[in-house]
Amino acid sequence: MTPCDGGDRCRNCAGKWEGSGNCPRCFAWDALDGAIAAFDMEGAARRVVHGLKYRYIEALAATMAHAVARLPTAGSFDIAYPVPLHRARERGRGFNQAALILAGLGWNPGPGSLERIRRTGTQVGLRPAERRANVSGAFRYAGPPLDGLRAVLVDDVVTTGATANEGARVLKDYGARSVRIAVFARANYDHSPGAAIPDW
Ligand SMILES: [Zn+2]
Repeated sequence: MTPCDGGDRCRNCAGKWEGSGNCPRCFAWDALDGAIAAFDMEGAARRVVHGLKYRYIEALAATMAHAVARLPTAGSFDIAYPVPLHRARERGRGFNQAALILAGLGWNPGPGSLERIRRTGTQVGLRPAERRANVSGAFRYAGPPLDGLRAVLVDDVVTTGATANEGARVLKDYGARSVRIAVFARANYDHSPGAAIPDW
């Protein structure tokens, strides 16, 4: 598995990137303050992600949490939320993989809850701008104000970050000072204009 560290990375989103400043994958994040990731979404890391999400091997969540917990900035958040699934999707799968990973991390669950209020179609095959439109207005936060708190969203994979950016927007509306996303795997899709994003 390839760790997301070293010099060939976007410092904001952990994507593979040789240039300076933000890479094209995170240019459009207007609410999300960055991503931290343990491994690239390829090889064994990809099999681990699929093992949890599609083969329901729930024990993999602890392994994934262990990898995320070892990231250098893993301790710098006040509150954490799993990226929510829509209720219907969660019922179908029997669990939310992001919630299992967060449970393994033991990070302080935020007050209230971040909920998915709109069932979005799949993001697979959509270009970045289409993904943003697809998840717009998909979330709701229910709980007390988050004034000044540093929040983190937890998920198994980040690709364009469109979903996490939308969740971050909602948490910031309620006062969160910063919102980042922590994931097990970073999907390094082709970021050239017009390129379709593959199914991971
Ligand atoms: Zn980036």
